[in-house]
Amino acid sequence: MSEFWADIGCEIHAELSSLNSKLFCCCPITYGAPPNTATCPVCLGFPGVLPVVNEKAVEAVLKVALALNCKINPVTKFDRKNYYYPDLPKGYQISQKYLPIGYDGWLEIYVNGKAKRIRIADVHLEEDTAKSIHGEEAGDPTATLIDFNRSGVPLCEIVTYPDMNSLEELEAFMVSLRQLLLYLGVSECRMERGQLRFEASVSLRPKGSEKLGTRVEIKNLNSFRAVLGAVEAEIKRQKEILISGGEIVQQTMLWNEALKITEPMRTKETAHDYRYFPEPDLVPIVFSEFWLNSLKAEMPELPRQKFERFMREYGLSDYEAGFLVAIPVTADYFERATKVCKDPKAVANWMLSDLQGLLKEAGKSWEECPILPQNLGEMVKLMQDEIISVRIAKEILKEMFVSGKSPKQIVEERGLVQITDENELKQIIEEIVAANPKAVREFLSGNEKVLGFFVGQVMKATKGKANPQLANKLVKEMLEQAKVKAS
Ligand code: ZN
Ligand code: MN
Repeated sequence: MSEFWADIGCEIHAELSSLNSKLFCCCPITYGAPPNTATCPVCLGFPGVLPVVNEKAVEAVLKVALALNCKINPVTKFDRKNYYYPDLPKGYQISQKYLPIGYDGWLEIYVNGKAKRIRIADVHLEEDTAKSIHGEEAGDPTATLIDFNRSGVPLCEIVTYPDMNSLEELEAFMVSLRQLLLYLGVSECRMERGQLRFEASVSLRPKGSEKLGTRVEIKNLNSFRAVLGAVEAEIKRQKEILISGGEIVQQTMLWNEALKITEPMRTKETAHDYRYFPEPDLVPIVFSEFWLNSLKAEMPELPRQKFERFMREYGLSDYEAGFLVAIPVTADYFERATKVCKDPKAVANWMLSDLQGLLKEAGKSWEECPILPQNLGEMVKLMQDEIISVRIAKEILKEMFVSGKSPKQIVEERGLVQITDENELKQIIEEIVAANPKAVREFLSGNEKVLGFFVGQVMKATKGKANPQLANKLVKEMLEQAKVKAS
């Protein structure tokens, strides 16, 4: 009786922040600029102004639709979504209702190695509203100020079917979608800047039942954590109502992060009456075969394809490939470094462990990595050529991270070339053996572990420059000789 299925859907608004200008005017797309400095009569919604479509925005949404395996409407057009709010001075938002750019697509997600397709209902282009700044943030607890810099910024809206049945699937979907948008280069997807905004819908139904339950929407979720927290709380709330014999009311909720509960925003009829009608100031857009084909040719390699290619072409594990393709910048970094040294496994290892560690410590992102990929590749090459040891490589990595110098330059400046000369090493080992008679006696009495001590001393004496394999071999030889002499 108390067993329920959750059906979760998503609506995503992605700002096409990588474009140079807004959707219907030439104003730049800014973040953090002084309020109302990136505006003009068009995006301020003055009466009588005429919108002109930004072709790049249409192409960006078309690419998203293609990447989401959507059908493309050969003719697409804009519609007015009418409602009144201070951040929307025209009294309507120019959006797409009847002929969106894309529809009926899917995105494949992977949870515990199992693939699942989340169906996409609709991918369309619309304009963003201005931003309301309330209370304290506005410098006056009783005031609301409006910043029109965001007004008219192109948004790609993506609507899914309620195909996700768990928080794990929801998270996998959000991560995959963000990854896809980053790969397409249409949005920077910085959630803290509102460039990627999620709304979720949640309904429950008794397990085994085919009929979807009454859905509740949750708005204004500005981080993955907020989405997951809100949906988890909403599932719990609905479950409790259903178990106690109550009924779910169709409504829109807001997430209260502090109390970890969802709270009603407004009750909702079956649908808002936005009185959508065709935008009379914009002509429909026809996608010619030529335009579509040239855009298809421009499509980058998508995350899943890259993931599979990395395993196939470079022999990486799924963990390594997954880490590297997570964002385009690491995938790119990896391939550039590998080109130099032709040792993909080693590059992946350095990136996943030491370099990732240095970045974390410095609070830097991969975009800000001070080591050029060519330099990491060169460092791996120096190791392959036995010019430096692993230990020296670790030191060089740290120095490259600080100075940005090339590994060759560091090796030359600091005289870090590995000692591979047998005679030079033998001399050093002889001195160490002579200085540690007690350890030698221990070795003679059968304690083989002392070998490690001697090799350690050699590395110390050479500041890590001794070739470790060679040092190991020579120490062994010399102690064996001592054994022969002693017997
Ligand atoms: Zn403008
Ligand atoms: Mn919308």
